Amino acid sequence: MRDAFYFEGLWLLLGLGGGGLLGGLSGHYAEGLAVGLIAILGRHLYHLVGVARRIDRRARFLAPFPGGAWGIIETAIAEQQQRSRRHRKRQLRFAQRFREAAVSVPEGLVILDKNFCVEWSNPAAERILGLHWPVVRARPFGSALPNPLLKAYLAGGDFAQPFDLVPEHNRAVRLSLRITPFGGEKRQWLVVARDVTKIHHLDQIRRDFVANASHELRTPLTVISGFLETLADSRETPPGMRRPVDLMRHHASRMQDIIEDLLALSRLEMGEHPEQVQPVDVPGLLAQVVSEVTAEDGGQGPIDQDIDPDLFLMGDATELRSAFANLIRNAIQHTPADARIQVIWRNGPQGPVLSVRDAGLGIEPEHIPRLTERFYRVDPARSRESGGTGVGLSIVNHVLSRHQGQLLIASEVGGGSEFTCRFATAVAVRRGAERSNGSVPAAQTAAPATAIPHEAGNAPTARPNHLAASSLAASPIDQMGMGD
Ligand code: ADP
Repeated sequence: MRDAFYFEGLWLLLGLGGGGLLGGLSGHYAEGLAVGLIAILGRHLYHLVGVARRIDRRARFLAPFPGGAWGIIETAIAEQQQRSRRHRKRQLRFAQRFREAAVSVPEGLVILDKNFCVEWSNPAAERILGLHWPVVRARPFGSALPNPLLKAYLAGGDFAQPFDLVPEHNRAVRLSLRITPFGGEKRQWLVVARDVTKIHHLDQIRRDFVANASHELRTPLTVISGFLETLADSRETPPGMRRPVDLMRHHASRMQDIIEDLLALSRLEMGEHPEQVQPVDVPGLLAQVVSEVTAEDGGQGPIDQDIDPDLFLMGDATELRSAFANLIRNAIQHTPADARIQVIWRNGPQGPVLSVRDAGLGIEPEHIPRLTERFYRVDPARSRESGGTGVGLSIVNHVLSRHQGQLLIASEVGGGSEFTCRFATAVAVRRGAERSNGSVPAAQTAAPATAIPHEAGNAPTARPNHLAASSLAASPIDQMGMGD
């Protein structure tokens, strides 16, 4: 920098000195100085225009560079150009590698524009999803992959949960599609399609195992319970045996409850949607459930009800009844007898909502996300004591997801809990309007639980010990032709 300062100073001296000398010799001193200044300015102008022209043409700045300040400027620009060239090359190499990786990943990748039209897809997307690139370029994703549920999923815009798909071109395969936003302002979407056939198969094996094991255990247990009941009722049973027989009967009955709940869950897991979808008279159904559940408990005070009498729901009455009964029974079990319980059934801005509020013990926050897992209990001993199987909320969760619903749990330790079932507006029906779909009177939708024949493959009911097991427990020995 110091050299440049001297260099420019030298040029100034030369220009002014030369001009002054010329002026002195010619007798026109001022004009001579002006010529010197013009020469100095001309040099700067020459370099300035040279730099501007190369920048304008995006030309490279190459050595040799002039001396002085212009040399420093041109060298700096040349170095900057070199740096950005190296950076661009690195980026190109990175983009190339990224492209190669995207082409070779086993997952199907599809880039969609903001209107969900295909911009790019990798070879795996062709294999997995049957999308032929570049035939599908610019086609709406929903029509490139014809599936009415996918169209609704895309239109819904909520991609928090993956979308499960059985592709048309290979129905033996099960795929999971995840859609995530990317691309900043361009608001593109990245679809990742994974083949989850194996996971699905393993899940199926697990479900079949639980269903088969429960089914196989059910009959012997029914026989054992029946004989134990006979022994408990018989006068010939020695007094010393009464207590062990009672204990055995109690535990056999608990095992039956667990097996019935597991079978109910298995039935729910078998299909994604309820088989019997009808307009359900939810107000009538709730009235029956509340009166039954409070009668079972005996000690529970009246339950406050705020019910929209005209709000029906499209769904399966037996499944909904099972879910609502579970929530109301839980509220009773976890609330002191004199504390308030509220059941609210209203149409909210986002659709129908059932809330069951209690003023019970409440639940610590760390347990809340796990409550819908099978056999998860906050206090296992207490749950067992009160006859709980630990599967009730899992059943509620399944029923709701089959009815486009969601279970929300809010609780405060010592302040009570609120279990909210939120349904989509699409499944709400107004009383009267349901007649065009085929009317279902309340008594039919809310059929007495004891009449639900499990063996007949009807929709499942949780807590069969309370709701549906009477057909099993009342006289199993009679049923099996083993009565006296
Ligand atoms: P359970 O048969 O044990 O009631 P659930 O699946 O219905 O099984 O409930 C799981 C656990 O969630 C219960 O064991 C209990 O700890 C907790 N729970 C459910 N409902 C309530 C409630 N209203 N208040 C407090 N805890 C609750």
